[in-house]
Amino acid sequence: MRNFLEKMTIFMQGRYGMDTLNGFLLILSMIIWTFNIFVFNRLAHYIIMVVQMLLIGWVVFRALSRNITMRSAENRAFRKAYDPAKKWVQLTYQRIRERKNYRYLKCPVCKAQLRVRNVKGKHNVRCPRCKSEFEKKI
Ligand SMILES: [Zn+2]
Repeated sequence: MRNFLEKMTIFMQGRYGMDTLNGFLLILSMIIWTFNIFVFNRLAHYIIMVVQMLLIGWVVFRALSRNITMRSAENRAFRKAYDPAKKWVQLTYQRIRERKNYRYLKCPVCKAQLRVRNVKGKHNVRCPRCKSEFEKKI
């Protein structure tokens, strides 16, 4: 096993390896694979299978690529879209989880997300980012 790992390490030297984009593509291909279990039309099933194989092929190609500059540029471009989307999903999940204790507001001046305790009444809210104050009724 150790020998195999050593060989793997040598093989991967100078190659790109895994990144956020590859991880995303792998998860996407797994989702497609799971979805395809429920596709009973033969032609559609094969087409989806080919798409999924192409995705995995792309991941392998990127992981083994020696053109590290190009692969990093792809990953950077991908993360420009992916990071805000991930942040939004995390925030939405947090909002749902804490909906009993907290309310989420948007600062009217700088549009920052603010979290206030879910207590009935009038609140004076002070935005920690732009220091502006506003009133909010809950
Ligand atoms: Zn603000």
